[in-house]
Amino acid sequence: MRVAIIGAGYVGLVTGACLAEFGHRVSCVEADAERLATLEAGGIPIFEPGLAGLVARNVAAGRLVFTGALPLAVADAEIVMIAVGTPARHGDGGADLGQVYEAARLVAPAVRDGAVVVVKSTVPVGTGDDVERIIRSGAPDRSVHIVSNPEFLREGAAIEDFKHPDRIVVGAESDPAREAMAELYRPLMLSPSPLLFVSRRTAELTKYAANSFLAMKVTFINQISDLSEAVGADALEVARGIGLDPRIGDKYLNPGPGYGGSCLPKDTVALIRTAADAGARVTLVEATVDANEARKHGMARRVALALGGEVEGRTAAILGLTFKANTDDLRDAVSLELVAALTAAGAHVRAYDPEGMAAAHAIFPDLTYCSDAYDAASGADVLVIATEWEAFRALDFERLGKIMSHRLVVDLRNLYWPQDVARYGFTYHSLGRTVARPSGRASLKAVGNGS
Ligand code: NAD
Repeated sequence: MRVAIIGAGYVGLVTGACLAEFGHRVSCVEADAERLATLEAGGIPIFEPGLAGLVARNVAAGRLVFTGALPLAVADAEIVMIAVGTPARHGDGGADLGQVYEAARLVAPAVRDGAVVVVKSTVPVGTGDDVERIIRSGAPDRSVHIVSNPEFLREGAAIEDFKHPDRIVVGAESDPAREAMAELYRPLMLSPSPLLFVSRRTAELTKYAANSFLAMKVTFINQISDLSEAVGADALEVARGIGLDPRIGDKYLNPGPGYGGSCLPKDTVALIRTAADAGARVTLVEATVDANEARKHGMARRVALALGGEVEGRTAAILGLTFKANTDDLRDAVSLELVAALTAAGAHVRAYDPEGMAAAHAIFPDLTYCSDAYDAASGADVLVIATEWEAFRALDFERLGKIMSHRLVVDLRNLYWPQDVARYGFTYHSLGRTVARPSGRASLKAVGNGS
């Protein structure tokens, strides 16, 4: 099939590359001149594992092109996918649909008769109706089908998620639309992933319901984590104990610093807005958002407490800036609040992230950016693990003990067994577990003369 994708961000680019890999002919339209120039020159403007090879292979095969010429790409397409951003609106936190409506306005004059316009962006219930009105008024002489096909991929595992989805949700109101979507996803139909045909409004709500449920699950285990600390239980063992129950499931049950990223924060708030407007409040989601905000603020306080309350003039090494591992995305990352609060309190921050330093530099130009974890830890009073990158899972604590001013770790991702770190003479704070203090004469001897 011939497909045009409007927006070559995390979702549009991955979708375009994967559909091209299935054999479709895909034009990705990008409005951002710098992003487009990078793509046209064979570069990849985002970090997503496996994406560079996939894009290069499909560009070389002539199945994938990048362009700024929206009308040309759309005129040729049987399916037009809108994959532009829907950030939180300033003020009330609802979804800002400006990019979606603008894309619809640009698509209307160019779209073919009989084409299917798919909204892939995460949009509130009823947006498909608005898009339909915009396209109808801009293309009154053509019959165009508007479909909702929300995307469930996770950054960092996006290609795997796209090629092996748990489900594909398609909200369509006509047979030609359903047939076109079935043909688009036919290459996936050999796998067991179900293609769920529902109404457009149901599809739109399904995406928000999924993200809000995940946010609630994360927040639930975070509250159990706080309770575990208060009563001397181990939250990781509690999580395992409940997660083995298939009615609960073990995913999204890791105590952490609060959810961040480009989706859960904005989608929970947008669902609250939709529900309030519809007169059917989702108080569980409201409580989730409040609890998560409080938790994110609380992370800097944890570091301050670990430092004995004295932050001014102290040096904090922050390992990880992105909102999670395997992405360069900093949107709503917990690290942003952490770094801002620590620097406001007078700490000197030395930061390292495998992929997020360029984006972080644009936000915090004055941090000391380091070449690796050990460079960051050099002379630091505390080492804070803020993102669960693989590179931070096997740190050499013997070496860290020699180069840090104090042997103090605050691990916001629970990457280590507390006693394993304490053996090297460190005080180790993690989430939902008792603080581990230095122990073991043999290992203390091994780390030499650090404090
Ligand atoms: P993004 O900001 O990374 O990408 C959007 C792209 O669209 C940008 O490059 C922008 O320049 C481009 N764009 C905007 N208007 C355009 C126009 N008129 N013509 C051409 N290009 C245009 O956003 P994203 O992270 O890819 O998210 C896109 C949507 O998908 C959002 O609604 C988001 O909530 C949803 N979503 C995101 C994820 C994720 O993990 N990032 C997962 C599922 C769903």
